[in-house]
Amino acid sequence: MSDNKIPYKIYLEEEEMPKAWYNLRADMKNKPAPLLNPGTLQPLTVEELSGIFCRELVEQELDETTPFIPIPDEILSFYRMYRPSPLVRAYCLEEKLQTPAKIYYKFEGNNTSGSHKLNSAIAQAYYAKKQGLKGVTTETGAGQWGSALSMACAYLGLDCKLYIVKLYYEQKPFRREVMRTYGASVVPSPSDTTEVGRKILAEHPGTTGSLGCAISEAVEVSVKDPDYRYVLGSVLNQVLLHQSVIGLESKIAMDKYGIHPDVIIGCAGGGSNLGGLIAPFMGEKLRGEADYRIIAVEPASCPSFTRGTYAYDFCDTGKICPLAKMYTLGSDFIPSPNHAGGLRFHGMSTTLSQLYHDGFMEATSVEQTSVFEAAEQFARVEGILPAPESSHAIRVAIDEALKCKETGEEKTILFGLTGTGYFDMVAYEKFNNGEMSDYIPSDEDIAASIAKLPTV
Ligand SMILES: *Cc1c(COP(=O)(O)O)cnc(C)c1O
Repeated sequence: MSDNKIPYKIYLEEEEMPKAWYNLRADMKNKPAPLLNPGTLQPLTVEELSGIFCRELVEQELDETTPFIPIPDEILSFYRMYRPSPLVRAYCLEEKLQTPAKIYYKFEGNNTSGSHKLNSAIAQAYYAKKQGLKGVTTETGAGQWGSALSMACAYLGLDCKLYIVKLYYEQKPFRREVMRTYGASVVPSPSDTTEVGRKILAEHPGTTGSLGCAISEAVEVSVKDPDYRYVLGSVLNQVLLHQSVIGLESKIAMDKYGIHPDVIIGCAGGGSNLGGLIAPFMGEKLRGEADYRIIAVEPASCPSFTRGTYAYDFCDTGKICPLAKMYTLGSDFIPSPNHAGGLRFHGMSTTLSQLYHDGFMEATSVEQTSVFEAAEQFARVEGILPAPESSHAIRVAIDEALKCKETGEEKTILFGLTGTGYFDMVAYEKFNNGEMSDYIPSDEDIAASIAKLPTV
């Protein structure tokens, strides 16, 4: 063997990549409450769920006991194209803030779809393909999930049917074209391709659609066509499971260099990136092996954890999806249209809801102008132009670092930088023009939608 050969082995050695996903529920004493059938109010069975979701994904969804689930080789090879994702020490931000805190971020925007959603998209597409299906259907709002899923489906040769809220179809042409470039069929919702779509069009001609309606269309197609299943980019346990690669990689790298994060921060929409980032750290906390302060950050305009109620609720405005016990603002709650930062889901992952309820993590909410201030400050020193969603975590990381400056504490902060913001320049434009405002729902607004929670 010659010594001067390029050491391929070294480059491909995925020492900082896990070979299994970590299922946090296995270490929870209080398991998240089960999903219920909205008709019978009984826990959903494998058979019932298999009509909507792929079989192996249903098993992952319901598995509360297996701590490690091996990542299939095909998914590992796909991950290798963009993983391990960078874990970066934000030296320039620390310098700018003049803080004694050490700030690290795990950057998930380093793939074309621009966010962590690809980690679960490839897994869900893989199991659909393995089951011999022709394709998958889903809805997409802001478009990151649709972009990630179309990339994954293109790679595996699966058909990808995306229902996108008509308003965004028209307002966000570039996201739409990314999805079409990767071969997805992008249908503006409501459409005449489904029964529910035709009904809504007849009742509300000229409507620009809603996420609830797009979900109903995507689910209808998957239920009626045996060759298709429905997939979802957040909230579900299976999605948190796939996203555990974020936390496992962070942990492997930090352990290797002897770094112990004191505070772990992530933005929370449906909870998938946060659930993934904190998974192995929370596992240690649950087993009593280590302690971490864990903070979920949500927008003040859609504050599920901080102002919601822990109860069973519908996951969709169309009220056709399973009931989940979670922190919720009510499925009728719609954040103000002036809210530009994503993270609009009215509920939260059942796993994170249970952990929050049991006091294992904190939550805080932030207003959008302060989020964009943090985004801009970060972009100017660290170079990356962050997604508005991710910038919620940046805001709180900066605030924590500034507190350390006051107290002189040398804390180590880890936050999740979930994606890039290139397709959110209309929101940045508003901020740059000084036209962005904050919206905080009143107690009455929230009470009105909470009053409509289903009785279980
Ligand atoms: C979808 C998305 C989020 C929020 O979703 P979670 O499931 O809460 O992680 C955050 N950041 C980016 C960039 C996203 O695309």
